[in-house]
Amino acid sequence: MNDLAKFVEAASFAAKKHRYQKRKGDDAEPYVNHPLEVANLLANVGRVDDFDILIAAVLHDTVEDTETTAEEIAARFGAVVSGYVLEVTDDKSLPKAERKLKQIEHAPHLSAGAKQIKLADKISNITDVSTNPPAGWPLERRIEYIDWGERVVAGLRGVNPYLEAHFDEMVRRARENFG
Ligand code: ZN
Repeated sequence: MNDLAKFVEAASFAAKKHRYQKRKGDDAEPYVNHPLEVANLLANVGRVDDFDILIAAVLHDTVEDTETTAEEIAARFGAVVSGYVLEVTDDKSLPKAERKLKQIEHAPHLSAGAKQIKLADKISNITDVSTNPPAGWPLERRIEYIDWGERVVAGLRGVNPYLEAHFDEMVRRARENFG
């Protein structure tokens, strides 16, 4: 199977796996819009043309948020892809606050590929929280979310200047909107 065929299969696989999920934002978009946006940011803002990274990007939340296993991903898409997905998968057995701290601690130790996926993930999530926040999130909570995102991204720098510049600009605009 060629790289493009594998990427399309991964996008379809992610759409099926996330089929019952909605994004947390007020307009409750289909969840798969998010991993597709992360791959889109990597390819078209970050200029990433490594298919293992792009395929892992569309799959990056399947292990964390659906019944998908790393073995399943390795068998279909290869060990490199499943490795990236695992690197960006939170341990859901931990309480949420601890998971958030772990993301900050782990960020500098990720591979270059996983760092770029995580950076695009943060761009997508923070854009959503600033333009289409979850219902019932007061301003303070949105600002806290951005502060935390910036602390994670501090550990992801040095691998993709285009994504970093995009992240910085997006955060600047979000803070401006919040006044
Ligand atoms: Zn994500």
